[in-house]
Amino acid sequence: MIRAIDVHAHVSTAPWFRSIRKFADGMRAYYKTEQKARTEEEMARDFVAAGVKGCIIAWDAETTTGEPRIPNDYVAEQVRKFPEAYAGGWAMVDPWKGELALREIERSVKELKLLGVKFQQGAQAFFPDDRRFYPIWDLCQSLGVPVQFHTGTTGMGAGLPGGLGIKLKYMRPIPHLDDVAADFPRLTIIACHAGWPWHDELIALLLHKANVVMETSGWAPKYFPPALKGELNGRLQDKAMFGSDYPVLAHERLFREFEEEGYKPEVLEKIYLKNPQRILGLKV
Ligand SMILES: [Zn+2]
Repeated sequence: MIRAIDVHAHVSTAPWFRSIRKFADGMRAYYKTEQKARTEEEMARDFVAAGVKGCIIAWDAETTTGEPRIPNDYVAEQVRKFPEAYAGGWAMVDPWKGELALREIERSVKELKLLGVKFQQGAQAFFPDDRRFYPIWDLCQSLGVPVQFHTGTTGMGAGLPGGLGIKLKYMRPIPHLDDVAADFPRLTIIACHAGWPWHDELIALLLHKANVVMETSGWAPKYFPPALKGELNGRLQDKAMFGSDYPVLAHERLFREFEEEGYKPEVLEKIYLKNPQRILGLKV
């Protein structure tokens, strides 16, 4: 039995730890969990054991961090190799790579059959509403694939001098995602995480733009801002999807806390399964 689709899971094998090497201390302090690299088989087993189908994410912030990427091909290969564990994969491209980024998006969607593209504007140091990146959103819109954007604070650089150079301004929902949503009305935008400290802006954006949805990863349900909790049980119940940010948050903990926080069972069923099935067109 599948309990949930996890729309935002990172790879926990060696390539991920190489990619985020400089951010490891901050992540450890922020999430208060010790992370160690798993084998591909161990990682797949985590998802099967939790009754979760993961959507796993590549990584590319080469221009800004100088660290190696997790290739989109690697993610596609894992999805093919472990269909019992994964429902799909997300491409990630470095938006500063220009023409190369566009070609890689097209290849990732058409050849690798990935679900869409994920961005982490803090690590990649860019504003989505910067017109230089509009060709990317235009391409994703015409390919008919969703785009994930990080919103709110991040564990990357957390608690360290200068936040390791990561600037939070890039991850503010309004105006940066609102402009993109307005200018690309047929592009599905997935706002990642709870958006804190701009969760009220995120709620407004979700209520105003039909093409913006959210996912709840990277944030323990116990700590969701009360306003967000209220809206998830009400007006946002068809616009939110379950996500973990695996490996930093364990599926069991998320399930437990969602239940303890008193969400209606029919709302949880939507967040866990029905919404991701509908929004991402997944047959799980
Ligand atoms: Zn993430």
